[in-house]
Amino acid sequence: MADKGKKESKGKKTSKKWKIYEVSADAVKKGRKSCPKCGDGVFLAKHTDRISCGKCGYTETTDKKE
Ligand SMILES: [Zn+2]
Repeated sequence: MADKGKKESKGKKTSKKWKIYEVSADAVKKGRKSCPKCGDGVFLAKHTDRISCGKCGYTETTDKKE
């Protein structure tokens, strides 16, 4: 816990660049992506290594290597 706070204050200037990546990556992780087939409003369900549409069955792999 204490280590995390130290890291944040130290990399405040350069964390901006990372924040943009974190937001987009987080959006994918949460499965907030809408189905390309069904369009906006139909979100893809999040699975362990993929996201899929429960309406049309569209599946997209989310190979996250962290
Ligand atoms: Zn769909």
